[in-house]
Amino acid sequence: MQHFTVKSVLNKTKQRDPWFLDDYTLNPYSGCSFNCLYCYIRGSKYGINMAEKVQAKSHAIALLDKQLTLRARKKQYGIIVLSSATDPYSYPEETQLLTRSLLEVILKHRFPVHMISKSNLICRDFDLLQRIDEVSILPDDLRDRVSHRAFVTFSFATTDDALAHIFEPGAPTPSVRLEALRSASEKGLHTGVSLMPLLPYITDTAEHLEHMFDTFKQAGAQYIFPATLHVQGTQASDNKTLVLRAIDKHFPHLRATYDRLFQHNHQLPFYYRDAFRQKTEALSRSYGLQNTLFTVEQQDAAC
Ligand code: SF4
Repeated sequence: MQHFTVKSVLNKTKQRDPWFLDDYTLNPYSGCSFNCLYCYIRGSKYGINMAEKVQAKSHAIALLDKQLTLRARKKQYGIIVLSSATDPYSYPEETQLLTRSLLEVILKHRFPVHMISKSNLICRDFDLLQRIDEVSILPDDLRDRVSHRAFVTFSFATTDDALAHIFEPGAPTPSVRLEALRSASEKGLHTGVSLMPLLPYITDTAEHLEHMFDTFKQAGAQYIFPATLHVQGTQASDNKTLVLRAIDKHFPHLRATYDRLFQHNHQLPFYYRDAFRQKTEALSRSYGLQNTLFTVEQQDAAC
């Protein structure tokens, strides 16, 4: 495992994302071994096979301890998202235990966390996440608005293992992830799904969406964040190149449609995104899945 030196591991965000509530982000690794074709961190920095370029951050544990000591002293509590630019449980974590050590530091300083992962390896750390949920200190403005201090979000683009093998070739299968979601729910952790990115005419069909919402609900998800596909770049390692190559190989009848959809922009046209929003909002209501980490009362008040 390669390591590299950083001056800081805890990043303060400029603005909290309304879904992920990220006051801080923390990426234990650079790159990600799961190698999803649609990954937005792709580009020349990591190459076509990102698994070859994963590096752990040296001294991350001591650095985080120092940074959280200062933040706690100033009472700058906030939700730490692991992670925004890697998966905290990609394969090196099995032997490195860096994410686990960082969670121990987070628990020591009583900061709340939001974990986002595609891996069942997160189940190993449920003991720490339960303790963080019990003892952490929320920032003042969230104290009456969220009811938990640890959030466990599983990332899915599909629940179909064969489709996932095409677009997420290095990640644990959706079936394995669903078991981890079920386990998180049974342990009493506040858990849900980041459903992104949905692939036009492949995973965004009415039938596929209905099946996924039903499956997540039955597995114990309490919230869901659905989003569409963004692709960009023309280099060999860019996500647009890799996704279109997979479309050519596995869904050649859709290639002209994808070219038209992404003709002018890296995101899908407004009419598509608007129809998608309406469809997923209706499904969220129908399956009783929240679209937020805020408590239901707060969501209603905000409306
Ligand atoms: S798991 Fe996330 S960070 Fe890792 S390759 Fe897939 S999309 Fe990128």
